[in-house]
Formats: sequence, structure tokens, C-alpha cells
Amino acid sequence: MNRRGFVKFSALTMCMGLCELSAADEKYTYLDEADRKIFHSIYKKLGLIQKQVGYSNFSVISFDEALKTAKDFSHIGAFDMKELTLMEKIFYMDASKLGFYGDRTVQKITSQIDKKEIVKIKSAGQYLFKGKPKEDYERIMRDIGPTLKLTSGIRSVIKQTYLFYGKVIRLNGNLSLASFNIAPPGYSYHTIRDFDVGRIDWGYANFTSRFATTKEFSKLRRLKYISIRYGVNNDYGVRFEPWHVKVLV
Ligand SMILES: [Zn+2]
Repeated sequence: MNRRGFVKFSALTMCMGLCELSAADEKYTYLDEADRKIFHSIYKKLGLIQKQVGYSNFSVISFDEALKTAKDFSHIGAFDMKELTLMEKIFYMDASKLGFYGDRTVQKITSQIDKKEIVKIKSAGQYLFKGKPKEDYERIMRDIGPTLKLTSGIRSVIKQTYLFYGKVIRLNGNLSLASFNIAPPGYSYHTIRDFDVGRIDWGYANFTSRFATTKEFSKLRRLKYISIRYGVNNDYGVRFEPWHVKVLV
């Protein structure tokens, strides 16, 4: 599927609101110019919250817990109304308008991850849901061996927000292209069951198509009890993610 194309960045100067830019039959949606400062401020606060609560805890922290942490620590500072409004606007937007066609996985921004339902994978500093996700992970590790590792487990709405915002910032406010690379908050399967795996000592390369060239991936794709969520030319409108394990339910 090739629904996205490139448009000239200069057109941005005319853009107001969560605007759409047309270029032939393809278009991108960019972050509103007026929202950019607020967006950066939210991202900075989320980074400080992550530092405050720790990397692992941050991956399962709820919206309300994040708000409380920001309020309780003066070096972070409470989120103001403009920041809360923008966070809600982005969480509740229709991702299909950005070219992301996956289902919404989380209905409410305040949705919480039940701490009794999760387990920490200590070697990875990540959490997985008990039951099928954890069982699949352990079975994958047995079948593929110690050169594989868990690279990303459960991501709460807040964690997904932080990752998505980081991508948007690195892509100069391009919400469409960001959602091609990472699910918008509220649309990630990490929030409800999926997880990512990679090769030990491969670092960032685990999150590139190079992972598809590894023997670990060759074995992974042959396993019958899991699937790869975002295959080549998938219907979600997402890039090929050979590392993202779809937990079958
Ligand atoms: Zn993933």
C-alpha cells in the first residue's frame, strides 16, 4: 500500500489547526503551528516524569498517575489546561485521517493497566501481560534461543504518547508520517498484548528492516503460535515491522 507521499514543507506556513496538505492525490496532516510549543512542553514533562518514576514504571503508568507525578514534583510542574486539551485532542483523533487504519485499542485516555495482570521481565526492564503474551514470549525464547530478547513490552497510553510525540517532533510535526512509524496513542497493541523482540546487542538496528535479515527473524516467522502484526504492505498503513509480535487471541 502506498497511500503516503511527500509534500513540500514550506506549505506548512499556511497551515492552521490539525491541517491537511494536499499534493496530487496524497496528503499529510501536520501538527498545528500554534500547538507546537504546547506539544514540546508536554513531551518535555513526559520525559521528566519518566526520569522521576523510572523507565520500567513509566511504561505502565496511567494518565492520572502521570498528572499526579507532574503536580507533585516542582521541577516537572502540573500540566496546564492547554496541555491537557492538546493531549486529549491527539488521543481522541481519528487515526485513519492520518493514514493509520488499525483499530482503536484503548477507548479512554484515563484507561489503566491492571498491575495484578502484568509481570515484569527483569532481564529486559519491560512488562508483559500474564497469560498468553507471557507464555508466548517464554515459548519464543525457548524456540529461538538466548540471542533473542524482549525489546518493548507493555506501553501504557502515557508511554505510547511519549514515543509518538518524540517521533512527531523528529519528523517536524508530520503526524501522518509519525503514525506510519509508530501507532498513535490509543491505537497501539502494546497497550493490550503485543510486544517487540530483537537480537541481543543489536540496539537500534532491531527497529529497522534489517531485523528481517537475521536468523532470529527467519525462525520467528515460522512459528505457528504467533504472527507478525505489521507485515510488508499491511492493511494498517504501517511500515513493515518484522520485530513486532502479534499475540494471537
Ligand atoms: Zn511494536
